[in-house]
Amino acid sequence: MQDTMDRLFETVTARIVAAAEELTELDSAIGDGDHGSNMKRGMEAVAADRAKLAALAPGEALKTAGMTLVMKVGGASGPLYGTLFMTLGKELGAAPDRAGVARAFAAAIDAVKARGKSETGQKTMLDVLVPVSAALSSGASLAEIREIASKSAAATVPMLAIRGRASFLGERSIGHMDPGARSSVIMIEAVLDVLET
Ligand code: ADP
Ligand code: MG
Ligand code: MG
Repeated sequence: MQDTMDRLFETVTARIVAAAEELTELDSAIGDGDHGSNMKRGMEAVAADRAKLAALAPGEALKTAGMTLVMKVGGASGPLYGTLFMTLGKELGAAPDRAGVARAFAAAIDAVKARGKSETGQKTMLDVLVPVSAALSSGASLAEIREIASKSAAATVPMLAIRGRASFLGERSIGHMDPGARSSVIMIEAVLDVLET
């Protein structure tokens, strides 16, 4: 578990850093063009803490990473992803089984919804996180979860943005993938890649 957590932090942070340009491009279309640099800054700070995180219990490590994201990311996504990681850390027991992980992930998403005053269908990260959480809870395979994540991000393209900066564009937000939905997919794929090896 400890070793898996270290590989998860390594892979998730590296994938987000590598995707910074793509995320910024998506945010340039319907936001202020900083999602890639915001997430890169936060994940580089988490990666810099890796040795420290590896010495902590999984829940404590996630809480610490979440606090780092809140402090370093800035923008709407900082407190939202920070809340996701912190709540996940708080809810995850010492040796969670799959059902325990599913419950903790569902609780973390509820905390994001409360923080963002948001729901699914508003063209945000929740449009990926919520269906993935439902799939995890319902016993879907890792391959099915992977497919649901990527389809859910694609499904944000025709949506009208109701939350976040993209909502300022009104109808012009239609036709572009939500940047936060894409960063969520990248993190979920990173997790699945680690779990499948
Ligand atoms: P900012 O919009 O402040 O520049 P980012 O560009 O880093 O912050 O993050 C934008 C992403 O944050 C959006 O693509 C969306 O997925 C997510 N987001 C913004 N507001 C909310 C909200 N209220 N609830 C859930 N997600 C949100
Ligand atoms: Mg932005
Ligand atoms: Mg911004």
